[in-house]
Amino acid sequence: MSSLDQFAAAKLADLDAKSLRRSLKETRRDGAVHAWRDGRRVLSFCDNDYLNLSQDARVKQAAIRAIEQHGTGSGASRLVTGNHPLYAVLEARLAALKGTEDAIVFGSGYLANIGIVPALVGKGDLILADELAHACLNAGARLSGARTVPFRHNDLAHLADLLATERGQFRHCLVLIDRVYSMDGDLAPVAAISALAARHDAWLMSDDAHGIGVLPKEDPALVPLQMGTLSKALGSYGGYLCASAPIVALLRSRARSFVYTTGLPPASVAAAIAALDVIEGDPDWAVTPVVRARQFTQLLNLPNAESPIVPVVIGEAAAALAASEQLLAEGFLVTAIRPPTVPAGTARLRITFSAGHSEADVAALAEAVRRVLP
Ligand SMILES: *Cc1c(COP(=O)(O)O)cnc(C)c1O
Repeated sequence: MSSLDQFAAAKLADLDAKSLRRSLKETRRDGAVHAWRDGRRVLSFCDNDYLNLSQDARVKQAAIRAIEQHGTGSGASRLVTGNHPLYAVLEARLAALKGTEDAIVFGSGYLANIGIVPALVGKGDLILADELAHACLNAGARLSGARTVPFRHNDLAHLADLLATERGQFRHCLVLIDRVYSMDGDLAPVAAISALAARHDAWLMSDDAHGIGVLPKEDPALVPLQMGTLSKALGSYGGYLCASAPIVALLRSRARSFVYTTGLPPASVAAAIAALDVIEGDPDWAVTPVVRARQFTQLLNLPNAESPIVPVVIGEAAAALAASEQLLAEGFLVTAIRPPTVPAGTARLRITFSAGHSEADVAALAEAVRRVLP
């Protein structure tokens, strides 16, 4: 075996020993809430497709029309020739939805975050990030070269303390939060964080990946940098930032993950536009995922759900995997989330609810989860 393959084999053996190896499982979607896994048709509670729009006929038709009109790929970076006409439509729609002057669309939410953060701060600047902020915000922070200090999750006193002790030694300060924490489903205290940041002339950036489409819109006066994804409730693919005109103009020139990558395919952009049409036209559909999540937390006496995401913390990685497998055997697809995605000792079932789940689906899942809990 070459030293290269030996290296990989040793790493994999270590991951296996800790139940932390990950593998891809083929999953075929079947309508809004079902999927095929290991030859069985199961009810899925682990997509971020909260409004089932990736399977919606109107959204699919918009994507098909865009392919017929503009082709399958955009052909180049948006700054060269990849800026097909659908982009301007989507950016105007996102800015209007969020109440900002402008918006910029990226290839994905991950690409957005690793481009935005280093374009705004660098050496000599400070980043204060919630310890549970998404991996790609942390990747952006690392790429930026700014001094990065985590604050305890949703802990305003800790953030205030860091602003008081650290802020003065740095030129600019960026505060990074998720609006909805992706593995816990809880919300950031945005208004209080915004007030704190303003007091110290720190810039607030919030990642709304799990909020757009399913939670009421954030107040643009509170959050000048509103990032999110087209890949979850919007049922498409891509990322965005809604912000002031000068910020968006700066990013068009300086965000490396915007400048040096090919523009999104026309179909993805058209699907996102069509998804916004559906969401804006049917506010009752948009609130249903949170209603279903609350039904579930009530049935299991868990803290009231604040978003479509509900964690059922199990503890050890192996136990979480076993619970997930037991649920699969009962016809429910609920993935186990293990470290390093979540802190050690907090491996969990991460359950996500969508508008297409019926009350009976949720009740059946609650029964099954009760049975598999250790
Ligand atoms: C999923 C997610 C992202 C990444 O978005 P993609 O479009 O999937 O790359 C960013 N932030 C948070 C909080 C997420 O959950």
